[in-house]
Amino acid sequence: MEGIIYDIKRFALHDGPGILTTVFLKGCPLRCWWCHNPESQLAAPETNTIVTRLDEPSHRRRHTVGYRPTTDAVMAIIDKEAVFYDESGGGVTFSGGEPLMQPEFLKEMLRSCKDHGYHTALDTSGHAPWQTLEKVLPFTDLFLYDLKHHNDELHQKYTGGSLRLILDNLSRLAQKHKNIVIRIPVVPGINDSEADNEAFAKIISNLGSIHQVHLLPFHNMAQHKYARWEKENKLPGLENLNKNDLLPAMEFFAAKGYEVTIGG
Ligand code: SF4
Repeated sequence: MEGIIYDIKRFALHDGPGILTTVFLKGCPLRCWWCHNPESQLAAPETNTIVTRLDEPSHRRRHTVGYRPTTDAVMAIIDKEAVFYDESGGGVTFSGGEPLMQPEFLKEMLRSCKDHGYHTALDTSGHAPWQTLEKVLPFTDLFLYDLKHHNDELHQKYTGGSLRLILDNLSRLAQKHKNIVIRIPVVPGINDSEADNEAFAKIISNLGSIHQVHLLPFHNMAQHKYARWEKENKLPGLENLNKNDLLPAMEFFAAKGYEVTIGG
């Protein structure tokens, strides 16, 4: 079976425990204003022209993001690092884009990883039919589940997707799976106020079984990608957040009893 992916990162240290291989699937139903992988959004390979001007005349080359490997080809890459997963307690994380947009490929990849004895994590927005989440649930050790906004109208505005679907899925997932980390991408002026934290905390505490929260500080390193891929950057010039900026939020969630990490 083939899927569409746009990157595989070996020896990754974020987005799961230990040393990881992260597989980035291409395609996403959302369009978050702060997305730092805009080239991941379209569910097909994309080609553009990169112009470099180090020399005159400028040099142009065609550049394609995304390709269609088989599950076997991806497993062959994952298997190369097996010794590191064993020694570090790591494994394989599937990220995106939104991996749930390719349910059959994702399920086969997760199942193969479990057959090989690897820890599996799924980094998801949760914006998918429940039946899709249910398919991958038995093969997923850890869910890294985004909460991008707490207000449905603002969620729709800033991501293009329904918060209700995401919360319904999260609620059902929390009843069936005990290893869920909530990840909040913190974006200045959009979801970073004390009132925002209170609203997020209310959602999380109602789930009952969540112990960990990751706060992901906004960064603007993707600005050049928006220009390169001719996509609209809706947050031009927005300043990066650093770890210190998120300390008050970290203390807030820690005081509520959560294990809090800044970054993932
Ligand atoms: S869910 Fe992730 S990949 Fe999709 S648009 Fe939002 S930030 Fe980008």
